[in-house]
Order: sequence, then structure tokens, then C-alpha cells
Amino acid sequence: MGMKIDLHCHSTASDGSLTPQELVQRAHQMQVNLLALTDHDTLAGLPQAQAAVEALRGGVAMMLIPGVELSCRWHSYEIHILGWNFDPEHKALRTLIASQTDARRARAEAIMDKLLQRGVDEQAMAPLRQRNQETAQLITRKHIAEALLDGGYVTTMDDAFRRYLGKGQSAYVTPQWCSIDEAVAAVSAAGGDTAVAHPLAYEMSSKWLKRLLKDFTEAGGHALEVSSGQQSPEQRRHLAELATQFSLQASAGSDFHNPGRWRELGHNIKLPEGIRPVWQHWPQFAQLTHTQ
Ligand code: AMP
Ligand code: MN
Ligand code: MN
Ligand code: MN
Repeated sequence: MGMKIDLHCHSTASDGSLTPQELVQRAHQMQVNLLALTDHDTLAGLPQAQAAVEALRGGVAMMLIPGVELSCRWHSYEIHILGWNFDPEHKALRTLIASQTDARRARAEAIMDKLLQRGVDEQAMAPLRQRNQETAQLITRKHIAEALLDGGYVTTMDDAFRRYLGKGQSAYVTPQWCSIDEAVAAVSAAGGDTAVAHPLAYEMSSKWLKRLLKDFTEAGGHALEVSSGQQSPEQRRHLAELATQFSLQASAGSDFHNPGRWRELGHNIKLPEGIRPVWQHWPQFAQLTHTQ
């Protein structure tokens, strides 16, 4: 029997719309066997997700992998590095995540300050300010775009990025993310594996993408996200070839953020034949194979 595996998704701990518990329950309904919660720059959702897995009754066997999606700066790009199966208590990793979390909170405040200067009403940002200052839930530019949409300042999410939040726009604030080397080093020190997330989302030339994979490999990175929900068979084949070329393992993830028409947990992300899955040596995978 094939195993259903999804190593990339988001909860309300970052910019997903489901709580960690709801996310786990949905993944279980979708018959996902191996799930990693990978919120942006935070581990805050992991304990709740683990408790939810332990409370599941009936259905398919499911195991949760501790995960994170780290925002990194690399040349002029923001690159997302997925990390999995680390010790969440490891000091170097906790230090890195704390600094990423601080950077995210500070950037959100600076973006909202800029928006006020641009004539956006403080009221429109008040709920986000409160969330940012008083809860463990992080905010991303997605939340700010939603607030602009709700306040009638923009007509679509895309419009929010084009007019205010996108790189070079009037409320853009350069983020202070860690480097790829730092992200890979911290996750590896904590015993985990890493991958370059959604390699085709950075809109870089083939030459730059190869440069990125070379740097990532030299930093000790482990894998490439080969399969994701919205991609053509050609794109998937191309990524599988790149993984082989750079001796990287392969991962699969939906990047699920919310229920909708476009992405579903565990859906249509099977890896192509002939590449080595990053989960192959994970104890949770061995345990699942054993019980199936
Ligand atoms: P951040 O990590 O704070 O820079 O926020 C990035 C998040 O904003 C991404 O994870 C997406 O969920 C969302 N996002 C980025 N660009 C767009 C866009 N053009 N339209 C809608 N959402 C976007
Ligand atoms: Mn996101
Ligand atoms: Mn991402
Ligand atoms: Mn993601």
C-alpha cells in the first residue's frame, strides 16, 4: 500500500487558517500517514498538533514530524528552508527561531507603521497589532494584506502586494532573516533534515537556481521539495532531475494554508520514481511501514 505523505503545511501559529488541532484532524480525514507542520519561523503550533495526533481514534495510522519553514536571505532573494525531525528543545535551534520570531514581529510593526503614514487607519491594523504583541501567533504579510482587503484599502490580495507590501512598494520593509548557512546549521545541530522549499516560486533564472542548490548543498542541506500541489508534470520531472544532479534527497508537500479549491493536504504530491525520499531513514516512517 502506498503511504500518503505531506511535509509542508501551515496552521494559525503562522499564516494558516486552521488551528494545529483542526489541521491534524483534516489531514487524518484526508488519510495522510506522515504529516509535518511547518509554520513560518515558529515552533509554537507543534505541541498542540502532537496532542491532536495522540487524540485521534480510528482511521489510518498517522505520525507527526516536528517541522518549520525558515525565511532566509540569500543575495537579493528570500528563500524558504524547510526543517524536519529536529529536537525542538535544542539550544542552537531555539536561539535561531527566537531571533527569526523577533525579526518577524519587528518587521510587522514597521510595515504597519508605514501603512499608517500612507493613510491607513490605525483601527484597521488594531487586531493585528494585538495579535503581534500579545499572542504566540506570528503574523505574515498575508495577514496584513487581508486586513487591507477587509478595510477596503485594496480590492484583492494581489493588489495589496502590488501597491503596498511587495518588494520596493511603499510599505515594504526589508526583513532581517538568517542566512541559509545559519538555518541549515541550526536544524542539523538539532539532528534534523533540511530542504529548499518550492524551488520554482522564487522566479529566478535556471542559472541562479543552480547556484542556490550548489550553495545549499555546500552548506550541508539535505533535500529539495520536488513535489508540490500546483505544478505540471514537466516541472516535477525537472525538479527530480535537479535533485539527482545535486545529490539531494526529495520531499513532498502541499504548502496547505486553508481549505479551498487549490490545495489539499496530501493531495497529488507523490514523488516520481527513482529519487530518494528524505523521510526514508526517519524512525516514524519505519514505524508506519511496520504497522501497515
Ligand atoms: P512573509 O513571510 O511575511 O513575507 O509573507 C509571505 C506570505 O504572504 C506568503 O507565505 C504567502 O502566504 C503570502 N503572499 C506572498 N505574496 C503574495 C501575493 N502576491 N498574493 C497573495 N499572498 C501572497
Ligand atoms: Mn505562508
Ligand atoms: Mn514558503
Ligand atoms: Mn509554506
